[in-house]
Amino acid sequence: MDIHWHRDDLRARDNAGLAAASTDGPVLPVFVFDDEILRHGSPPRVAFMLDALAELREWYQANGGDLCVARGDPTAVLPDLAAERGVETVHCNAGYSGLARDRDSAVAEALDADGVALETHEDALHHEPGSIRTNAGEPYSVYTYFWKKWRDREKADPYDAPDAIADVTGEELPTLAELGFEEPEADVEPGGMETARDRLDSFVDGPIYEYEEIRDTPAADRTSKLSAHNRWGTIGPRELYAATERAAANAPDEDAAEAVEEYQGELAWREFYHHVLYFHPHVVDENYNEYEEGIDWRDDEAEIEAWRDGETGYPIVDAGMRQLKQEAWMHNRVRMIVASFLTKDLMADWRYGYDHFRAKLADHNTANDNGGWQWAASTGTDAQPYFRIFNPMSQGERHDPDAEYIREYVPELDGVDADTIHSWHELTKSQRKATAPEYPAPIVDHSERREQALAMFKRARGEDPDE
Ligand SMILES: Cc1cc2nc3c(=O)[nH]c(=O)nc-3n(C[C@H](O)[C@H](O)[C@H](O)COP(=O)(O)OP(=O)(O)OC[C@H]3O[C@@H](n4cnc5c(N)ncnc54)[C@H](O)[C@@H]3O)c2cc1C
Repeated sequence: MDIHWHRDDLRARDNAGLAAASTDGPVLPVFVFDDEILRHGSPPRVAFMLDALAELREWYQANGGDLCVARGDPTAVLPDLAAERGVETVHCNAGYSGLARDRDSAVAEALDADGVALETHEDALHHEPGSIRTNAGEPYSVYTYFWKKWRDREKADPYDAPDAIADVTGEELPTLAELGFEEPEADVEPGGMETARDRLDSFVDGPIYEYEEIRDTPAADRTSKLSAHNRWGTIGPRELYAATERAAANAPDEDAAEAVEEYQGELAWREFYHHVLYFHPHVVDENYNEYEEGIDWRDDEAEIEAWRDGETGYPIVDAGMRQLKQEAWMHNRVRMIVASFLTKDLMADWRYGYDHFRAKLADHNTANDNGGWQWAASTGTDAQPYFRIFNPMSQGERHDPDAEYIREYVPELDGVDADTIHSWHELTKSQRKATAPEYPAPIVDHSERREQALAMFKRARGEDPDE
């Protein structure tokens, strides 16, 4: 009997490590609440994880066994469990962050001291870090070239769920409070394999064919919303990809087939950022792209606080920040807008934004979150050039023309027409007071800040800001 050690692969089907652990008789599935890892957790993420674990446990119980749950240091818990059960091999799926890799090396060493092997499997990505390289053998720093190779590479088929589970009785799962977390402020969507599968099924049944056209319209709310499931592994990457391939094969026309490929491109962005993190673990708290003179961020605490609270007086920015607060999720286009606003209009270090997202998003994962922030801050791999600064008003007008999304999250603007909302920055104080007295005036002037941000980046590049 082998152990499968679940971490962020909270599913029974399409799980490489679990499938490998099941080849040698019934598998003993284990989850360890590791206090060192939990220190980096947040209420929405841990709430989602607990939901997913509860469902996984039910699946094991319905299939003749249970999920073994323990709390403590896995370098002690796993060797003890292996000794108790006479297990010779522990399986797990590879983690790519520095934290995960350090933990896994320590666990491998501890098990090895007892003559037990830790076998790590490639599971979370279709193509592991290092498998897609430039012709010169380097990891890619430009997405487009990475994508072409990623798209053309053959993808593995989904793995079957195990058919025999060890006959054990696991402990009850701890509550959020027992793990030291408060209830999340947001109404977090339920985690779990069934929810993930239902979401995927309904997405590939229709919305995927409009993805290209509608993915930038937050009010439509028609993206797959699988990010937290991808983060916690409640859906397998092969199962997800196979569903998109079936959708491509059934596409009603060429536009629909292109939309499916556009969606697959987002799955590749996720892998690209995992490769970046793997080869450059320092990006967690340092710029990927260091500017010659360093960036002299403005970092005004009151402005950053207004951004966190969704009180900037820029409607699309505030709507996004309030969606995050309410749902522990935010639409991708709006993530780009709020991130640009923080780093360019408020000229605040991207790490303030990253920390806030890390605390509030149920789908936060280091690779994607860091990639997204460094992209917006013009410090990342294949990032937005520093001189392309989003105008938050025209972004709102373009992507939420009827201001439906804005009104949904900013009730102070309820009943205000879209044109007025999109020209909020141009209204006089008395016009604003007469229109929506509770909604704040813009905290900064976008045009002024745009110039100041350009000068900040030019100085960082060692250039004369006046030229
Ligand atoms: C500043 C910023 C921070 C972000 N932080 C995160 C984060 O912590 N976690 C996270 O999963 N995504 C993050 N993203 C990427 C993206 O916004 C979300 O993945 C997406 O909005 C999730 O919604 P969805 O599942 O409906 O996406 P869909 O559009 O349906 O995309 C399908 C899947 O592809 C992946 N994906 C989509 N867009 C991206 C992208 N730009 N980069 C990498 N992977 C992508 C996700 O796994 C997603 O579930 C961030 C983007 C920005 C600009």
